[in-house]
Amino acid sequence: MAGIYIHIPFCKTRCIYCDFFTSTNETEIDSYVEALCKEIHLRKDELIDDVVKTVYFGGGTPSRLKKNHIEQIFEAIRANYQLTADAEITIEANPDDLTHHYVDMLCKLPFNRVSIGVQSFDDYELKFLSRRHDASGAIEAVKYCQKKGFNNISIDLMYGLPNQTLAIWKRSLQQAIDLNVQHISAYHLIYEEKTRLYSLLQAGKVNPVDEDSSLEMFATLIDTLTKVGFEHYEISAFAKQGFISQHNSSYWTGLKYLGFGPSAHSFDGEHRWWNVSSLPKYIAGINNSTPNLEKEDIDLTTKYNEYIITGLRTVWGIDLEVLKSRFGDELYDYFLQNSKRYFNLEYLKKENTNVTLTHKGIFISDGIMSDLMKV
Ligand code: SF4
Repeated sequence: MAGIYIHIPFCKTRCIYCDFFTSTNETEIDSYVEALCKEIHLRKDELIDDVVKTVYFGGGTPSRLKKNHIEQIFEAIRANYQLTADAEITIEANPDDLTHHYVDMLCKLPFNRVSIGVQSFDDYELKFLSRRHDASGAIEAVKYCQKKGFNNISIDLMYGLPNQTLAIWKRSLQQAIDLNVQHISAYHLIYEEKTRLYSLLQAGKVNPVDEDSSLEMFATLIDTLTKVGFEHYEISAFAKQGFISQHNSSYWTGLKYLGFGPSAHSFDGEHRWWNVSSLPKYIAGINNSTPNLEKEDIDLTTKYNEYIITGLRTVWGIDLEVLKSRFGDELYDYFLQNSKRYFNLEYLKKENTNVTLTHKGIFISDGIMSDLMKV
């Protein structure tokens, strides 16, 4: 089983907080899609023994693609890889792109899941983040997707924004619940270097939210969503029963995946490789049939560290039997030694052979993970 990730590195405008690899020069989309399809053909042997159970169009903003682009990409995927009949096929979309016309088009394509970048249902926050939609536009977009038959919808939300109060955050959460979506991902705002937001922070023009408020918002997120039936299955992800993201779960559970497009990563269990983060270099490499990429072999310690991070992020946790058989006695003992105090403090819990974070452990997950990783 494997997953395919398709990177669409275009956005109409750049959001204030964003450091993703993306371009606002949309005149290059046609030539990009040509190159992308060529890459999909070129790399067909990389999944020769695997069926594909998830396809994820991420970005950037995949909803900047036109119908002919998407059809071209699916044609290339279908011609070179074997998709399972029930494959989860997701497109990330921005609310302002989800016009009736666009959604009517999307629902005739193979997508069965839409992940909508709502971020907030507060107009002031949306403006501050330089998103192009307002709250009513986001609500309308979700409702129209539902009306047209999409029954697996995820929305992204952000918290920990400057000037965001707990009351505003609660209102956004309640609006998300009222929309009856199947999945919610919620991320704390990060001040990434080289973003406009970071410059504003450096210039003292924004006040980051304080640590206590951040934790309170995270706690509110978990309490509010779990009370209405969402499963908190990964630190940032919540799903109604039967709607856990299959694509993201394969990253967390170590399944093989291929990433296409500039900056996209691939993984086969032993190696990780990734395309150059430059559109012209990417296109030139593909056109010469010599993709511009870098590769790393993953040694045992790195694999162990990745297992700790991805395992502890999720409800599936760390399986002690897997830990021992896959990483050997030394790393297994290292884990047992270093995890002891977290069990004593009830930050970690064990059920049969599975170790997961407790409710209070989730709030200090970064610290726990870094203590359990081997340097
Ligand atoms: S739409 Fe998404 S990828 Fe594009 S600039 Fe905004 S946050 Fe970044």
